[in-house]
Amino acid sequence: MNTEKTRLILEKIRQYDCVMIFRHGCPDGDCVGASKGLKRILQLSFPEKRVLIVDPERSEYLAFLGADDAPVDDGVYRGALGVVVDTGSAARISNPKYALCRELVKIDHHPDADPYAALSWVEEDCSSACEMIAAFYAAHQTELKLDAQAATYIYLGMVTDSGRFRYPGVNGDTLRYAALMLDAGVDTERLYAQLYLRDEKSLRFQAYALENFGRTENGAAYLFVDRGTQERFGLSFEEASAGIGYLESIRGCLCWLAFIDAGDGSIRVRLRSRFVSINGLAERYRGGGHACASGATVFNPEEARKLISEADAIVRQYKQTHSDWL
Ligand code: AMP
Repeated sequence: MNTEKTRLILEKIRQYDCVMIFRHGCPDGDCVGASKGLKRILQLSFPEKRVLIVDPERSEYLAFLGADDAPVDDGVYRGALGVVVDTGSAARISNPKYALCRELVKIDHHPDADPYAALSWVEEDCSSACEMIAAFYAAHQTELKLDAQAATYIYLGMVTDSGRFRYPGVNGDTLRYAALMLDAGVDTERLYAQLYLRDEKSLRFQAYALENFGRTENGAAYLFVDRGTQERFGLSFEEASAGIGYLESIRGCLCWLAFIDAGDGSIRVRLRSRFVSINGLAERYRGGGHACASGATVFNPEEARKLISEADAIVRQYKQTHSDWL
């Protein structure tokens, strides 16, 4: 971790009375955990500062983490330092008013395709943005304060973005930072129950997904979740999007895709893979992300089919040139 960057960020935060924290749209555990975790650390460490998260979006499944702040006047943004977490490009920042902030800091673990902030700390190989917040705290423990609540937010993002510490990018540091969070008093039994208990409708949808996914010749699995299916199972868009997770353990399928009809003419694509990189594919379809976890958007079934056949070609190429895939 780049401790020179963490030092510069801490210095910058010290210069401001108000810090506003931003994150990406369709907020997930990592960006919510990183923003709330950082906010809590700053509130504990600098009680005289105003630290705000104003986000027009929210994810129901993370509602147990509590609400964010109420909207504020533009003047508040103009005097504030903006800290954007877990967001690779400016276009993905959920609150467009971030642009009003006097200065911007970027803390992120996505490829740095859009260096939108004057002060940028990017660790592409890091398994989560929350790990970076934990590292920020760890590097300045003598000045910063952490409590069980802050640690819980951060630990949550580390767990969810690393697939419970399974995905590439997890290393010894990840577990050392996770240990630091656990030492601060995370109630893991409660947290895992909040995250992983399932509603019956979600289990029934999982059964449907496993009955109805398709598979290309070379091993790309895919699932379409149209509006009718979403209505039949009573799924929110987020719940429908979770369908991607049900395809992850199919032997021989090195890439899996979920197409979720957003109901506005667009189809959200979630892409996941083992061994092969799929972010290049996502970039060709208005998206991007990590080598093995990306997102994209298509606008009709033909485009979806084209994306699937490109995914198939990527898997074919990989299998032709490697013998160690499972
Ligand atoms: P998701 O399937 O939405 O969980 O996205 C997986 C990863 O890809 C996350 O790290 C996202 O930040 C990234 N991602 C998703 N959609 C996009 C997009 N349209 N552009 C760039 N990155 C994306």
